[in-house]
Amino acid sequence: MGKSNRGKALEKLPSKGRGECPICFRKRIKLLYEYEMENDGMVKVCKNCRQKSH
Ligand SMILES: [Zn+2]
Repeated sequence: MGKSNRGKALEKLPSKGRGECPICFRKRIKLLYEYEMENDGMVKVCKNCRQKSH
């Protein structure tokens, strides 16, 4: 627990935690945060998009 989004923990994830953000649609961005979409349930979003809702 704790710093699970940083450093070597990321390297263990598929694509090193990167993908297309479902909110801003940037590709190969790091998707580090869980975000609850009204229709899609929990998704992973980038740092920028996470800040909009919390
Ligand atoms: Zn985003």
